[in-house]
Amino acid sequence: MDWVNLMSDTVTKPTAGMLAAMFNAEVGDDVFEDDPTVNRLQQKAAVLFGKDAALFCPSGTMTNQIAIKVHTRALDEVICEQTSHIYQYETGGYAHNSRVAIQLLQGQNGKLRPEQIKPALRPDHDWLPHSALVVIENSCNKAGGSFYTLPEMQALSQVCRENELKFHLDGARIFNALTESGGTTQEVGSHFDSISVCLSKGLGAPVGSVLIGDRDFIKQARRFRKVMGGGMRQAGYLAAAGIYALDHHVERLREDHRRAKQLGQALENLAIVDRVEPVHTNIIVFHLKDDLADDLLQNLLNHRIKAVALGPATVRFVTHLDFTEEMLEHTLRVLNLF
Ligand SMILES: *Cc1c(COP(=O)(O)O)cnc(C)c1O
Repeated sequence: MDWVNLMSDTVTKPTAGMLAAMFNAEVGDDVFEDDPTVNRLQQKAAVLFGKDAALFCPSGTMTNQIAIKVHTRALDEVICEQTSHIYQYETGGYAHNSRVAIQLLQGQNGKLRPEQIKPALRPDHDWLPHSALVVIENSCNKAGGSFYTLPEMQALSQVCRENELKFHLDGARIFNALTESGGTTQEVGSHFDSISVCLSKGLGAPVGSVLIGDRDFIKQARRFRKVMGGGMRQAGYLAAAGIYALDHHVERLREDHRRAKQLGQALENLAIVDRVEPVHTNIIVFHLKDDLADDLLQNLLNHRIKAVALGPATVRFVTHLDFTEEMLEHTLRVLNLF
């Protein structure tokens, strides 16, 4: 058996079917908008979320950063939850790329509530930044894969509309969220001005995210992608993997969630474990009784299992396409040794 890699759902490698789709892709030069496979992926993503257009980008960081750039001007302010990827893990790009301020709110399980938005708005004074954009994450990465339901997203969307705020969804794992919450991608799309979706997480593509929005938004987004160095040429080889992922790897996310729940249950019974965060989707976060995360990771490595620590006593497992039933059984056996 290969190494068991529970570090992230980004560690997957293309399946044989996906590689065949990539190998056989019809390509052109996407800087001239002349790559038929990129165009097909963008069209597919736009239709899926009920929007005009989409833009294929190298990463989810780029799609989020472009969205912030298009939705704001310098001296504006972005409102988000404190655990957000855009704040935690994008190198402070909101300040660097868009010259905006950020206001962090503390949600529950990484989720904002609609009644938190109004008190966060800035009155119109020249010494205050201008409230312009709300960003939410679904599912919430750092909060252990928790998810918003459609009514929760709708309520936030309504507050944004009432207060002339743009509303962006960091939907890196939106399909994981929808697997549990139910509801359609079109319904999700109706609540946001823009949506970012990662193809290279649970969906198993090697590279790429799509940014989705209305025609004017995507037109501007294309300019910012170019200036960020994200204009790619025969990108259809990568887009083919994205199309394949959307066609074949959405339904199976429920398997990742089932395996995550099984891991969570097994962890709850271990003497070394203090607490397992509720397992909502494919992310398991658990806390040890002592600061022994590094020891546990080393022990797991000795059994060919890789994971990451989120703190001295906190460990994260993420299930994905390349984490098989056999690997689950191996991991459960190994955990029972502790
Ligand atoms: C992974 C992730 C992203 C994008 O990450 P890239 O590695 O740049 O593709 C954005 N938001 C969330 C919540 C993520 O988990």
